[in-house]
Amino acid sequence: EKQVEQYQVSVVNAKNLCHEPAITIDGVNVEVMANVTCREDVEQALEYGADGIGLYRIESFYLSQKMLPSEQEVLDEMIQTLTPVKGRPITVRVLDVGGDKRLPFLNLPLEDDPFLGRRGIRLLLKYPDLLSTQITAIARLSQEFDIRVLVPMVTLAPEMERVRNIFATIATDAGIENIPALGAMIETPAAALCVDDLLEYADFFSIGTNDLTQYTMAAGRENPLVSEYFIEEHPAIFKLLKIIFDQAGNTPISLCGELAGDKKVIPRILGVGFRSLSVPPPLVPTIKEAIRTINLGTQENFC
Ligand code: PEP
Ligand code: MG
Repeated sequence: EKQVEQYQVSVVNAKNLCHEPAITIDGVNVEVMANVTCREDVEQALEYGADGIGLYRIESFYLSQKMLPSEQEVLDEMIQTLTPVKGRPITVRVLDVGGDKRLPFLNLPLEDDPFLGRRGIRLLLKYPDLLSTQITAIARLSQEFDIRVLVPMVTLAPEMERVRNIFATIATDAGIENIPALGAMIETPAAALCVDDLLEYADFFSIGTNDLTQYTMAAGRENPLVSEYFIEEHPAIFKLLKIIFDQAGNTPISLCGELAGDKKVIPRILGVGFRSLSVPPPLVPTIKEAIRTINLGTQENFC
């Protein structure tokens, strides 16, 4: 009972300070953004003091449609969802379907191992209309909102090169001069180990530890039979995080998987060098509070 009481007090304290920046004891500022899928999440992100939107997932909108939505419908949905955070930095991820998420209006072939199959950017590059509709809508959105664009499930540098070229062509055709920054999600071990190949095509990186964990630990993220292998804070994951971070150099990098919402591992995440996190909205206050208790000057090597 005492622990529950202490926990409740700490949650109230964290909430009271949630609109303040998250600064470590030794003065290091860490950005804490929110992962969102809908307008309610965005409103919660504001209420809980998120510094911006680190990951806007548009899958649930697409999965709720009976037909391929038009560019205008995608744009309207994004504006409706994001208007409360207009003026703050927003990272929009292009559609990450395939795997376990099948679009009702696309007759996608069944695959034996869908998580190792055609998902994320692999699928979008096979369905150019699906990709160009989103990119055009996002390019238009970026004229009013502070937008960055994130590409999911990147494995090979040529995937990013192709998306960049498509983006440039669409922007030119639409007469849009300021193309938003384009980033790669690092969530496959191949991308993690070869971030240096992606530097040429990515303006920023965001690490998806949910998928990175399932592919590194060879344990499906939704398979309860192997849940004891799905260890997000395993040393193998932290070794990869360090490899990714070191290769990224001066390219901005953030971490948006569930790992970033675990306050126990925040000292290790900051120890690797990360200064930008994105977590579910209700966790923003406690993660900011955890950051405020850390003195990076006294931390050892964390890996
Ligand atoms: C991830 O894989 O960590 C991630 C943030 O993306 P999603 O959970 O949507 O696959
Ligand atoms: Mg992912």
